[in-house]
Amino acid sequence: MTSRLVNNRESPPAAVPDRRPLVSLHDVVKVYPTPDGGFAALRGVTAEVFPGEFVGVIGKSGAGKSTLLNMITGVDHLSSGKVVVQANGHAVSIHDLSESDLALFRGRTIGVVHQSFQLLPMLTLLENVMLPMDLTGRYSRRQSREQALELLRLVDIEEHAHKLPTLISGGQQQRVAIARSLANDPPLLVADEPTGSLDSVTAETVFGVFEHLVAQGRTIVMVTHDHGLAPRFSRRLYLADGEFVPGEPATLEAPSPPRRKARR
Ligand code: ADP
Repeated sequence: MTSRLVNNRESPPAAVPDRRPLVSLHDVVKVYPTPDGGFAALRGVTAEVFPGEFVGVIGKSGAGKSTLLNMITGVDHLSSGKVVVQANGHAVSIHDLSESDLALFRGRTIGVVHQSFQLLPMLTLLENVMLPMDLTGRYSRRQSREQALELLRLVDIEEHAHKLPTLISGGQQQRVAIARSLANDPPLLVADEPTGSLDSVTAETVFGVFEHLVAQGRTIVMVTHDHGLAPRFSRRLYLADGEFVPGEPATLEAPSPPRRKARR
């Protein structure tokens, strides 16, 4: 089968870049309820992510990185502010969706990779990758099986497709988790310390998979406490105590379309 995923993503970039951000956060505040009146993990965060970017959100443990990702994916409620994600030409304010619409939207639009892989232990690798497709009901069983095999091939793990996750290494499990995150061909991937529990050699291989996906045109937001990775992102946002530290801009002027040469 020719891969829809691989071929779509390898087509040359459009001559006129998409000028709309794929993700916009507007003054996002997250206060966790605590016995002493609440803890503000995010204190009014505003940022944009444009198609094709590899954005690194960098900060120490406790800075609010995972909370920020949870606001982007909508798995947790925000206290105030707004998160807008572009999908199929529509700007969707995700926290205004009903729980069921949000679950479907998330399944189709955002692929998530966790530090701890989170593969289901009783399912084979192939079944793990098929699961998100089965949940959104977008593909027939045969299509999702073919697609899952193609994705396992993409992360170079197809030969293990029928094994259970416990029979492969951590780095291999993370590659399967990346394949699973791509299952519904989402425009956006978010990754929470995806190399954090891997040894340095394996981490490098897994990070290379993300770089390969960016080179193919994917948009990725990755959080990490590892400042050593900073140069490898296309843009870095530094988070401390729930706020961006001044540095690189969190919001960008949308990239301008190429200028035509003036005629003489
Ligand atoms: P990071 O991912 O940068 O390590 P988190 O987003 O996990 O940081 O957490 C940010 C802050 O919010 C931390 O101080 C953490 O203790 C606090 N926090 C996270 N989740 C909760 C919760 N459910 N209740 C109270 N405080 C929380």
